[in-house]
Amino acid sequence: MNTSVIGYPRIGKDRELKFASEKFFEGQLSEQGLLDAAKAIRKEDLLAQKEAGITYISSNDFSFYDNVLDTACLFNIIPQRYKDLGLSELETYFALARGYQGNKGNVKALAMKKWFNTNYHYLVPEIDNDTVISLSGTKPVDEFTEAKELGVDTKVALIGPFTFLKLAKFTGSKKIADVSSVLTSEYIKLVSKLASAGAGLIEFDEPYLVRDLDAADIALFKDIYLQILENKNGTKILLQTYFGDIRDIYSEVIKLGFDLIGLDFIEGTKTADLIKTYGFPEDKILVAGLVNGKNIWRNDYKKTLSVLNETGIGNVVLGTSCSLLHVPYTLASETKLSADYKKHFAFAEEKLTELNEIASLAGSGYENSDVYKKNQALFEGRIDSVDKEVQDKVAAITDADYVRLPEFSEREKIQKEILSLPLFPTTTIGSFPQTQDVRKNRQEFKKGLKSKEDYIEFNKNKIAECIKLQEEIGLDVLVHGEFERNDMVEYFGEHLNGFIFTEKAWVQSYGTRNVKPPIVWGDVSRKEPITVFWSKFAKSCTDKPVKGMLTGPVTILNWSFPREDISIKESILQIALAIRDEVLDLEANGINIIQIDEAALREKLPLRKSDWYSEYLDFTIPAFRLVHSKVKPGTQIHTHMCYSEFTDIIPAIDAMDADVITFEASRSDLQILDSLKENNFKTEVGPGVYDIHSPRVPSVEEIVTALTRMRQKIEDSKLWVNPDCGLKTRGNEETKKSLINLVEAAKTIRG
Ligand code: GLN
Ligand code: ZN
Repeated sequence: MNTSVIGYPRIGKDRELKFASEKFFEGQLSEQGLLDAAKAIRKEDLLAQKEAGITYISSNDFSFYDNVLDTACLFNIIPQRYKDLGLSELETYFALARGYQGNKGNVKALAMKKWFNTNYHYLVPEIDNDTVISLSGTKPVDEFTEAKELGVDTKVALIGPFTFLKLAKFTGSKKIADVSSVLTSEYIKLVSKLASAGAGLIEFDEPYLVRDLDAADIALFKDIYLQILENKNGTKILLQTYFGDIRDIYSEVIKLGFDLIGLDFIEGTKTADLIKTYGFPEDKILVAGLVNGKNIWRNDYKKTLSVLNETGIGNVVLGTSCSLLHVPYTLASETKLSADYKKHFAFAEEKLTELNEIASLAGSGYENSDVYKKNQALFEGRIDSVDKEVQDKVAAITDADYVRLPEFSEREKIQKEILSLPLFPTTTIGSFPQTQDVRKNRQEFKKGLKSKEDYIEFNKNKIAECIKLQEEIGLDVLVHGEFERNDMVEYFGEHLNGFIFTEKAWVQSYGTRNVKPPIVWGDVSRKEPITVFWSKFAKSCTDKPVKGMLTGPVTILNWSFPREDISIKESILQIALAIRDEVLDLEANGINIIQIDEAALREKLPLRKSDWYSEYLDFTIPAFRLVHSKVKPGTQIHTHMCYSEFTDIIPAIDAMDADVITFEASRSDLQILDSLKENNFKTEVGPGVYDIHSPRVPSVEEIVTALTRMRQKIEDSKLWVNPDCGLKTRGNEETKKSLINLVEAAKTIRG
């Protein structure tokens, strides 16, 4: 059986691309130096796959920043304001990705969005009335040729035109229909160029097909591909889909002239059924995505082989479920994890071995092979993963545990009396600037260069300073500043049983930013109080209310590699119970305002609307309630989300039953406010009054204007005044100035 990989990680085993790019941005590395570094990474990636014996290896899966941006540049979809800067091609590319501020001008970056249901982000291409779509770049051809020179005959991976158009933003009067035929003909030119360069197989990635499609979408897709498939120029075409099944269009897709069709059997819950119902044409090859490109657990060969058998299709290639970009490079870099743990994981490199092993086992009679038996032994249990007590606690949860009493309106009155805050209370989202000294303190403590006493002493001083600053500024609800945290998930994971951590398991989030998600290994419980010490100390420094600061269960799980042996729901409930212990502990220690951040709640919302509740919100929202349902009526629960894109799930957000929610609003059009009003949103709200993603200090007038607009939609008694998000990436000076203006604006409005 042949094997196929959709894409390989491209940041370099030791994050070489990040470091080279950053040096280039700082002017310490030449353009040629960066190009060379990239070439070395591509070479290593290609050869790793070749040596592993993969049949279909992609070229053009590399990117300096993002493949959607690469595609936009390939077809000259570059807004004039970037061209006007007069920069080199590579500099223009980075200006689109990161913005440009310098002697040639000042332009913001293109908007960035989450890539489907992953934590990877793409840049949103902009198409305006002046856009002239034309094949102006050569990246796919160059990278194909480069691979060929290395002795690797690749398939060329392209983001398909349908997905590209669906993700693009149309800023002028033109719509998809006005540009789709031009774009299609430019893709056809590209196919012809690739054919001339010797490419035999071209992969069109069309993940958008796994979303809800309407008749117009289906017509558009067919229209585009009928043309491309008529102009294959002797190449073979692979339609590659991922992140779900293509239930809305499967029956149409199999009628088109694709040579190979790639389907996702991991997230595509209906993929096997679709094949059963509609069949699979004999003249085509199925690329069966059965090796999970998103998670790090070993593949269960028994399951995979039985799915392969059940399809009953002869022409099958075994593939990854999506690009391996979403998993780390290799377990070989993990020097601290013992073999008892490591043997259960497969990162990108180990997945290549899995593809090979499964492909060689496929057929019949594999049950007696050693490879198969060794694999199956992995699923008989893992050390340190079972905690009967935790499982019993989850089993004992009743409906009442999900309900906080008394109901919101009554609590609101009680809290107003106890807290006696002014109208339009002012607060922040939690973190204060993580300056060099703050990070150094943590690092030195972690490396054993600093004693625990000194580490704590440093943080206490920071907290005391931070409280004093907030008092001087005149904020109403204070925070301790989060100086003890590197990151809002890892910090909690470290204090919970059941989590394990890696050294180098980096995954690209966007551009040069990578994340290192913890792994949920076993049943989760709280090891010890996590934040209580810091919050208590902060409270001892002031007479004003101090808000405790936690990360919620949905965010903790969404930013980790989840287990595959129990359901996501069960894992989230375990984490919810652990965080609940912390909430009750904070309350018992006199902290009567507690914020539970759910920054990543929306992120894993299923790609199809019809699955939103049944497969996600129906258990994530109750899990959040479980965390706070047992607090006293007078304890005020806040939550925070890093975006306001929840217009379509407002009732679910209200059903979290928090007392206050803060969210990003300053960069959006405040349309969310209309929706809150229409939906009779009961929770008190703090739509961010200024953008913390830039060092700019907002003026008092500006904040007053924002608040005035908010008051038209939100009752005065429900409106809070706060920035967009945490201040950890900001400097001290701008933070102080901005918050002074924020408090001044609140006072103005009160007046
Ligand atoms: N409390 C966190 C902070 O202020 C929230 C971070 C986030 O929303 N991403 O940093
Ligand atoms: Zn945030």
